[in-house]
Amino acid sequence: MLDGYRERADRFLAELEEETYRHFAGLKPELELAEIHERYSDLTSLEQARRIGERVDGAGPMRELWRFACEGYLGAVTRAGDERLATLEARLDVDSDGERIAFRMLGPEMANSGDRERRARLEQARSVLVEQELNPIMLDLRERLRAAVLELGGESAVDLYRRFGFPLDDLAAQAGSFLAETEGLYERALERLLGMRLGLRLDQVARYDTPRLFRAKHWDAAFPAERMLSALKATLAGLGIDLRSQQNVEIDVASRPSKSPRAFCAPIEIPGRVVLVISPIGGPDDWRALFHEAGHTEHYAHTSADLPFEHRRRGDDAVTEGWAFLFEGLISSPAWLTRLLGAEEARELDWEGAVQKLYFVRRYCAKLQYELELHAATDLSEMPARYVELQRKATLIEPSAADFLRDLDEGFYCTSYLRAWAFEARVRAHLCTRFGSAWFESPEAGKLLHELWSLGQRLSADELLQELDGSRLDLLALAAELGETLEPA
Ligand SMILES: [Zn+2]
Repeated sequence: MLDGYRERADRFLAELEEETYRHFAGLKPELELAEIHERYSDLTSLEQARRIGERVDGAGPMRELWRFACEGYLGAVTRAGDERLATLEARLDVDSDGERIAFRMLGPEMANSGDRERRARLEQARSVLVEQELNPIMLDLRERLRAAVLELGGESAVDLYRRFGFPLDDLAAQAGSFLAETEGLYERALERLLGMRLGLRLDQVARYDTPRLFRAKHWDAAFPAERMLSALKATLAGLGIDLRSQQNVEIDVASRPSKSPRAFCAPIEIPGRVVLVISPIGGPDDWRALFHEAGHTEHYAHTSADLPFEHRRRGDDAVTEGWAFLFEGLISSPAWLTRLLGAEEARELDWEGAVQKLYFVRRYCAKLQYELELHAATDLSEMPARYVELQRKATLIEPSAADFLRDLDEGFYCTSYLRAWAFEARVRAHLCTRFGSAWFESPEAGKLLHELWSLGQRLSADELLQELDGSRLDLLALAAELGETLEPA
């Protein structure tokens, strides 16, 4: 029975990926997932999820299938609302001095605007749209999710994900230590970056400055949009990977009005058809996004076709995110940057990249703390204030309370990012020790990566590290590494 289940589950995810790809690549205005869910509804029905749940015996493939069925059920319960949200988001816009700016373009617009008052107005308009148009739908979705989690036998999403094997409590403890350990380091680094980039002091910064702060306009000349793809190809070639001859990889760089400005990877078939979607804007951040998604792309494209469904499409997502971070990290690596910048500039960008990374890791530590509270709460009235408080403490920049439901990754995906950062730090250290700081120019390193990628997500990030060099996944090791870059002895 389960072989047939795996086969249909694989088709189900392939169709969802393709539909999502077409919508966010701007090839299709609607996001029509309902019909696909309908056709495969037997896979993720409540009865099916409960049946598989009864067969779970500790960690192992059955637990992955159970999580798949449960998350599918949760997805089915919220799909109408999710589609309404996506359609609405694609349609919403904001008036700025007589010019209509699409809701989804507001982030890049703020990042590219040097006019602080205009950024403040755009952010204000964005917050109002989120509050008035999106939050009512999202509140309703929260309620539905809550009821569905109870039906699946979890007391709350926190309880359910603990039973899926997510190390929520261990990671929350690590996140707390990471925040405490890097508090002073972050404050000093942020203050310096704000002064350098925006001429602002820490007590002046507002949330509408954040996209601009990390936009780093003055680096644009060194990171032109038209050279991104060739830089990626050259990097992969150094590892012995010829992007052009990869039959199973498609690159979508076409420009379309409703295409997502954010690069993404659509693993429609793993490993048979992986699409890398990008709208080149240029600048280091955009290069980072491309390299990140290329890391996913190569991981999926090299995954062994012989693995069962749960090890190709499911498993520990910290693994694929870790491979993505490994490639993204090249854009801050002095050894890699020598092809674009002088040594002094490369060190500077490495420093700035480390500030940005510290910001994100701290932001995600607070996200985990917040999500643990949110998912356990029955009354959400305190949550906007808690969201603001936890994020302000971690990032020293006050977010908009309106985002208390929007700034949320379903399924505790924030834990995948946090563990992936810790995983990537260890893997990179291993590659540097074994192949030198220019490991990305070594076909031997490429061979090792190929081997590790071919495992798909059969092993967890922790198990992979154990296999690789016996090291442990630990956020504090990342804190130490960032400290060395930000304040070298
Ligand atoms: Zn990713």
